[in-house]
Amino acid sequence: MTREPIDYGDLEAGRHCNYWAYDPTLRFEARRVYPDAEFEWAERVLSDYGAAVGETIADNSDAVDRHSPELHTYDDEGQVVNEVEYHPRQFETERISYEEFRLTHDAFHAPPGRDERVGLVHPLTMQTLLCFADVGFACPASMTVGTAVVLEKFDDGTLDPYFERLTSADYDDHAEGAMFLTESQGGSDVGAAEVRAEPRSHGGSSANGPGGLDADTYDIYGEKWFCSNVDAQGALVLARTPDAPEGTAGLSLFLVPHTLPDGSVNDAVVRRLKDKLGTLSVPTGEIEYEGATGYLVGEEERGFREMTEMLNYERVTNATGAVGVMGRALLEAKVHAADREVFGEVIQEYPLLRRDLVDMTVSYEGAAAFAFEAVKQYDRRERAWRETRGDDGDVEGVEGDDGDGESGDSTTEGDPEAYKLMRLFVPIAKYRTADLAVDLVSDAMEILGGNGYVRGHATARLLRDAQVLPIWEGTSNILSLDVLRALDRTSAHEALIPFVNERLDGVDHPLLDPRVETVRERFRELQSALGTLATVETDAAQYHAKRLADLIYDVVTATLLLSEAQTRLDEAGDARKALVARWFVETRFVDDAAYGITDGARPADACFDPVARYGEIDPDAAAESWP
Ligand SMILES: Cc1cc2nc3c(=O)[nH]c(=O)nc-3n(C[C@H](O)[C@H](O)[C@H](O)COP(=O)(O)OP(=O)(O)OC[C@H]3O[C@@H](n4cnc5c(N)ncnc54)[C@H](O)[C@@H]3O)c2cc1C
Repeated sequence: MTREPIDYGDLEAGRHCNYWAYDPTLRFEARRVYPDAEFEWAERVLSDYGAAVGETIADNSDAVDRHSPELHTYDDEGQVVNEVEYHPRQFETERISYEEFRLTHDAFHAPPGRDERVGLVHPLTMQTLLCFADVGFACPASMTVGTAVVLEKFDDGTLDPYFERLTSADYDDHAEGAMFLTESQGGSDVGAAEVRAEPRSHGGSSANGPGGLDADTYDIYGEKWFCSNVDAQGALVLARTPDAPEGTAGLSLFLVPHTLPDGSVNDAVVRRLKDKLGTLSVPTGEIEYEGATGYLVGEEERGFREMTEMLNYERVTNATGAVGVMGRALLEAKVHAADREVFGEVIQEYPLLRRDLVDMTVSYEGAAAFAFEAVKQYDRRERAWRETRGDDGDVEGVEGDDGDGESGDSTTEGDPEAYKLMRLFVPIAKYRTADLAVDLVSDAMEILGGNGYVRGHATARLLRDAQVLPIWEGTSNILSLDVLRALDRTSAHEALIPFVNERLDGVDHPLLDPRVETVRERFRELQSALGTLATVETDAAQYHAKRLADLIYDVVTATLLLSEAQTRLDEAGDARKALVARWFVETRFVDDAAYGITDGARPADACFDPVARYGEIDPDAAAESWP
């Protein structure tokens, strides 16, 4: 081996280290999906942010988790103030992220050292690093970018002061975004929303209007039931205008600030904060709007389609965030396995534990490959949109929505292939990585033994935080139904088939060849399943939707890992990824007799150093160690 395996025993725990430096999987995926010139610029930023998250934000997050935000709805005189009180270390985390590392700036304005802005791939990757420490704070950070994406696409410039603050790198000027869709009768069923928006004045300033803004102003009434980052200045709210049709088609989108430009409280009451299991660093509240000022974003009755732009971003970010959660849990497990002695031996020396860690590493590496492929297609489509939009920023080609629930259907212009792949991969990435993160954190907790279950150890908090990943931004079932929509309405399979075939065609190393055939076979089954589902009744298709998403995930992930393995063999003669790809394919697609107990093979023994500890291995050694 030329690259020595990582010695996790150098650390005492999975903190006070650089998460970027300790994570070759993340570095590999980022390099794969960033355009080359952008990666060259971004690498230093990511490395420094990885250090800041590991050295400072990880500790801040635990302090904030112990002293979570408090709501003060009223002041001492009984006036509504809707103030949220934060632990001071939250502000340090925000300043580091928004000002020092410009988390919400660089994808919209050229950062230092560049003439142009970078793609959304950059904040999405930073989100992974942030989620090594703080899934709660990752929520407002991500929603701030998402709000800016929506304003950039659909606002005519009227709301520029908000856009500038959301994307500012000056912490004192910076504002955060949010998205308030859910009402008590409708989370998945967004079209059931009843919050009302009554026009106050059009095309002119109003008494409560923002000074100097020529915004269409509305009075917002009604209740939003789950509002994360409840005190955000840039909250986007879906509401129904008078006489608007039922369902999602009748929804319009409004920017409803927490306080008005003169500093007064907007007309709303934040009733209470949710008493949540995890993500305690972000306050999630219930709001009763009582004629609050809202500024129309884009056009009336196009709100849901506009909001899908934000939903797509939030779903990709949920996936890259889940990767961060997995990365941290795995690091904690590996450090503990390298440090802890039981029965007179360090526990990572035991064959059963080595097998666990190999399995977990491969699960992580698969999740990272799929999530970052979703990032790549999403980012590609966003760049194409920027290139093709008109001077006025107007967007053509909005797909219709039939009001049957959430969807990611939105703008199709620019790069149809990237759009189709994005539509398919984003919901699958969100659904699968969320579930995998919960499973992996749970396994990591077990490796830490009793301590892993005790508050104060990272895994206890990680598990509480991770449990929200499958729920917010659309549950697993809703996302699986969205996969059916992507296939039915966007013909996403037309892009999927060449995507898989082209990558598998490029894999020919003898170490990988037999695995390619296994994946091809499963891919043929997938295509046959797609054909079957295209002909059955809606109910029957829905019945299978989650298993279909699972199957697409497994086939695409296996394809990506094989292709990555081929690249590593070609470029560096390193067979580590080949072992990862083989493990993934054989554990997902090959039915071993008696679960492999009788065949005498023990591949995890040989895979542990190269796979779980990232040592390099040459192809001959790999072939010999796992015939
Ligand atoms: C911590 C936290 C923060 C949140 N923050 C926000 C926020 O900032 N803004 C916001 O708008 N929302 C927020 N939410 C709300 C969240 O997005 C919703 O809870 C979620 O979308 C599910 O909606 P629901 O709770 O109404 O469940 P329901 O829609 O009632 O769903 C209940 C169950 O039924 C299943 N189901 C529903 N329809 C179908 C179907 N057709 N087929 C099969 N199964 C189905 C779902 O998968 C789910 O398992 C937050 C939630 C949490 C927990």
